[in-house]
Amino acid sequence: MVQVNDSYLRLKAGYLFPEIARRVKAFTEAHPEAAVIRLGIGDVTEPLPAACREAMQQAIEAMGTREGFHGYGPEQGYLWLREAIARHDFHARGCEVSAEEIFVSDGSKCDSSNILDILGAGNRIAVTDPVYPVYVDSNVMAGRTGDADAGGRYGGLTYLPITAANGFVAPLPEQPVDLIYLCFPNNPTGAVATREQLKQWIDYALANDALILFDAAYEAFISDPELPHSIYEIEGARRCAIEFRSFSKNAGFTGTRCAFTVVPRELTGTTASGEPVELWGLWNRRQSTKFNGVSYIVQRGAEAVYSPEGQEQVRALIRFYMENAAIIRRELEAAGLQVFGGQQAPYVWIRTPDGLDSWGFFDHLLGQAHVVGTPGSGFGAAGEGYFRLSAFNSRANVEEAMRRIRAL
Ligand SMILES: *Cc1c(COP(=O)(O)O)cnc(C)c1O
Repeated sequence: MVQVNDSYLRLKAGYLFPEIARRVKAFTEAHPEAAVIRLGIGDVTEPLPAACREAMQQAIEAMGTREGFHGYGPEQGYLWLREAIARHDFHARGCEVSAEEIFVSDGSKCDSSNILDILGAGNRIAVTDPVYPVYVDSNVMAGRTGDADAGGRYGGLTYLPITAANGFVAPLPEQPVDLIYLCFPNNPTGAVATREQLKQWIDYALANDALILFDAAYEAFISDPELPHSIYEIEGARRCAIEFRSFSKNAGFTGTRCAFTVVPRELTGTTASGEPVELWGLWNRRQSTKFNGVSYIVQRGAEAVYSPEGQEQVRALIRFYMENAAIIRRELEAAGLQVFGGQQAPYVWIRTPDGLDSWGFFDHLLGQAHVVGTPGSGFGAAGEGYFRLSAFNSRANVEEAMRRIRAL
């Protein structure tokens, strides 16, 4: 008899994006003439930087020659890419991260779920509410939670509400936890953490022997020079934090796939009998066994992000999306809405007006302005009463969407 992983059956059925798709489909079938603008799902829209495309084209040519052919590469990524990452993303910001601590992968969605492979089932887990759903669902699938309650919160998880009342910065947990998922700049709220706020979390983690899983997928959208891009900019983080990074949002690699995870050599966990074990060795073993590396072609494309042309092109992409975010903020404020985020992150987080709940505002915007966003409640119970608009779109679509919303 084949047994299934029962934990999958605990997952809540109506997942956010399928439900959005269902409502949009019903609307467009009823109103085929409506030109719907999608500011919902957080995918990039602009073409890949030329420097990345040229590097990938050269790599494809090389693969067509006996001398330039590459078969299996190192599971951890090619050293030239790991060294470029260490130099540009960490040493340049004063962080001590070595190439060997960088593990190149095909996405931080996968890494932030796969990391559970090396962590014990008994860990007490904290997530923010609202949250990037992957952190929660990967724990449910791995059997690390109880059942969901009527409000969609899973037993066994500690939820840290992030709302306007606390400036969208997670409060320290009241009961002790072992694993803490943090994402800054934040998806979905667009909030960002200051050095002082991250320092509090690091102090907490060091005092409680906890591990921070820090998702910095949106670090490139930070423009304020006072704000940290990496958690390793804060003293002590090497002893308590793993950081996830991705080329998806800065260089538009969502369809190309390349990311990396930093596991400092200092990090340890304990065995069931209390012996310390290096996490680096476990992650290295996990990747070597279950992963066979990112394609040579794509790693060459990622390396080109760090060339002078690549850096200039990536900066231009980010500038473009952040101008979209500024337009969204400005126009929504002019429409009388209360907006958050969108200044150091490509997401604008809106308080839903007129007593509408998140799905009520979704239906209102879709029905009246033909604009699709994401209901805050889909990211967690404390996201109720909020709504996310993404700055990932063409300028024409953003301007037209804002014109329609202002006309409501
Ligand atoms: C988009 C995104 C990522 C990147 O995921 P990839 O698998 O690297 O494309 C990671 N974390 C968050 C919160 C994201 O929104």
